[in-house]
Amino acid sequence: MDGAFEERLKDMQVTGKITKDFLDYILHGMSAEERETLYKTARETSQETFGKTVYLRGLIEFTNYCRNDCYYCGIRCGNRNVSRYRLTEEQILNCCDKGAELGFRTFVLQGGEDPYYTDDRICGIVRAIKQAHPDCAVTLSIGEKEYESYQRFYDAGADRYLLRHETANEEHYAMLHPENLSGAHRKQCLRDLKKIGFQVGCGIMVGSPYQTTGHIYEDIIFMQELQPHMIGIGPFLAHKATPFKDEKDGSAEQTIALLAVLRLLFPKVLLPATTALGTADALGREKGILAGANVIMPNLSPSDVRDKYLLYDGKICTGEEAAECNACLRARMERIGYKVVSDRGDHPDFMKG
Ligand code: SAH
Repeated sequence: MDGAFEERLKDMQVTGKITKDFLDYILHGMSAEERETLYKTARETSQETFGKTVYLRGLIEFTNYCRNDCYYCGIRCGNRNVSRYRLTEEQILNCCDKGAELGFRTFVLQGGEDPYYTDDRICGIVRAIKQAHPDCAVTLSIGEKEYESYQRFYDAGADRYLLRHETANEEHYAMLHPENLSGAHRKQCLRDLKKIGFQVGCGIMVGSPYQTTGHIYEDIIFMQELQPHMIGIGPFLAHKATPFKDEKDGSAEQTIALLAVLRLLFPKVLLPATTALGTADALGREKGILAGANVIMPNLSPSDVRDKYLLYDGKICTGEEAAECNACLRARMERIGYKVVSDRGDHPDFMKG
């Protein structure tokens, strides 16, 4: 493809579109040299908006109870071998205090869909964090809720919401989830969240069972319609106590290639190099940043619960303290010439209100 490859990348940037054939070529056919060209182009695109800086999100995994039974997820309710935990409001606030001291200006509260955390409790936690840290953004990642609940979270001060759509194709969605969950509802939640005024993040697992290039193409079309502020992608990694225990892991290389494609199509989007990517490849997060990602999400959960929030096997950083994770990631970013900044890291075009 040589010269033609670069032309096609330019074309993608100019039109904001990619063909299914070219996407397939990038995921399955490109040469090592073309891969380098793709990463370099995506990296330069990211630097035009963000420079050589990386935003931090402190992840607080506050409950591993879940009422859902997603076939891929290690904390699905059907997994009876999980030792379940919930963090108290005080524990969550302690994580935020520690995070703020370390320079974090965004806290992501993630958990299973745990009915114990009623809307009142979530709103109370959000308010308490915003009161203690008014300069920080609060992101929720707690699954599918009613419109009214999302509105209440927003009114309580939550700034952002992460809800990976997992796959835009509804047949594929049904292969990854039990019957009571639907792709249509999940996508509707994202539209609702956006309408309410959240900065929203959608996303997928790369290499999830039965996924085809056609599905990823549909994911891109969905993202172009939704125009999310953030896109979270990571490789699918099998968990031994799930129905997908024998399925093949997604590849770090394909994930990184897709990060680069997303950067070219969505030049200003917030794009994390995820923990799953760092699990699939020890240098995955660095490679992700060098292919256009601009966010990392170190773990701020208390160390005694970290090995209980296992969505997939082999998860990294489960034995570390927040301060260690923080120092390690900062050093990793510096080694590749990037600097972690103490900034909320809102989407460049976003204005609340
Ligand atoms: N309950 C929340 C949070 C889910 S966990 C919600 O519904 O949004 C966050 C993300 O981890 C999921 O959206 C999924 O994309 C990812 N994940 C879950 N299991 C995984 C696995 N086995 N491999 C890789 N990623 C996984």
